[in-house]
Amino acid sequence: MVIQTLNEVTCDALTGLRDWKTFFMDVERKIAGGIRAHVIFIQLLQLKRVNRKYGVQVGDGLLEEMGEYLKNLEEGYIAYRTNNSRFMLLGPECPKEKADELLGRIRQRFEDVWLVETDGERHEVLAKAYFIHFFLEPKETENDLLEKINHAASVFRLRERKGILFFNEELNADMLHNRYVMEEVRYAVENKTFQIYYQPIYDCGQGGFVSAESLIRLFGRDGTFLSPGEFIPMAEENGLIDSISWIVLEKVCRFLGEHPQLPLKNISINMTGQQILDPTFIGRIEGNLDQYGVDGSRLRIEITERTITEDYAEVRKVMAYLAGKGIQFYLDDFGTGYSNLASMLSLPFEAIKFDQSLINMMNGTDKGLRTISLLADIMHENDYYIVAEGVETAEQMKLAKERSLDRIQGYYYAKPMPGEDLVSFLEAD
Ligand code: C2E
Ligand code: CA
Ligand code: CA
Repeated sequence: MVIQTLNEVTCDALTGLRDWKTFFMDVERKIAGGIRAHVIFIQLLQLKRVNRKYGVQVGDGLLEEMGEYLKNLEEGYIAYRTNNSRFMLLGPECPKEKADELLGRIRQRFEDVWLVETDGERHEVLAKAYFIHFFLEPKETENDLLEKINHAASVFRLRERKGILFFNEELNADMLHNRYVMEEVRYAVENKTFQIYYQPIYDCGQGGFVSAESLIRLFGRDGTFLSPGEFIPMAEENGLIDSISWIVLEKVCRFLGEHPQLPLKNISINMTGQQILDPTFIGRIEGNLDQYGVDGSRLRIEITERTITEDYAEVRKVMAYLAGKGIQFYLDDFGTGYSNLASMLSLPFEAIKFDQSLINMMNGTDKGLRTISLLADIMHENDYYIVAEGVETAEQMKLAKERSLDRIQGYYYAKPMPGEDLVSFLEAD
């Protein structure tokens, strides 16, 4: 058994490079010594694919080749393999131009093939990667460093997954803003301080409001309004979306329970496809409805295609079960990139919500108008009704009605509003 002392250098067995633990030890030393360091982070993107295509031996050979290359890359830089598909380099402070030049060289090398020999066979292997680099300030801690890496990695995940990212002031400000938002979200999850607004949905056939969508609202403790368009995707990334959805579910059920006479057929809540597969999903929905004495027919669930990533059969089963209890589903954000239309339409949705980008297609061009008419026909033939989202003008409302879109949600009729305002809004209607 090897007993390591605290300051011992430990290495990755495959490449012989220093490992994650040693990386932090070295960083700590620089920080303690008040030294500004250049940190380079290299994330391989296709290691799994290489392993699948050529076998693990070739994948290992590739990492060894890269290790060799990085080890001898530049005087003063130490290379690390910090996890399966990640390398780091730690070097001295240098002018930004020099850092850029070095990154340019590394990137160029990674665009070329690597020669890997196993059992006498030669393979030419390509492996994509992205690169993040920054100067670590002496006052920064290990946690700051980790936060920077995580933030930059999520920027890559959310935007394009290629190229070089220099962690500049802008990215730093962006990161601090995200930190603030996530602190507020965490606080709101713990204290259930989210508010729920409701946006009425107009039915063209009946000529009145028949439904509403619940939309979460969050004000930071300093009163700043935080947009769900921003914090919901962040909550998804940070694993908080489930907790948020359960809070919304409870608040909406309570509101429905407190207003048995509300002149609406139902209210919809936003959920994710993954949640439907959560084994506690049905229980939570039924539990909340029971607790507040609300009939299932008064609840609708909106999900976007984006969040249904697997197991359509199971999703279909849960949807069918809840539909049997009166709880129907809407397909949300239709028109924002439907890669799998056939699968989506095989799910038992009650209605399809046409995204604002589709509705905007009606502005002007004949082609746009024809497309919407055609999509509407397809949906109607499949027995779905359509909710048009983001209708802002009388002109759009008229066009939507002419295309026989069944329901309309948008600022033209009403903006989202607090529950009590919804009650008076509907009384006045
Ligand atoms: P969404 O589900 O597509 O919700 C509709 C969004 O369009 C809402 O934005 C609504 O305020 C906005 N909207 C409605 N009519 C108009 C209009 O005429 N013009 C324009 N420009 N916008 C209109 P909001 O409330 O900012 O929510 C943004 C997104 O955040 C939602 O998009 C949804 O994806 C997410 N979200 C909101 N509340 C929740 C929630 O409780 N749970 C979950 N999981 N996501 C939520
Ligand atoms: Ca929605
Ligand atoms: Ca939508």
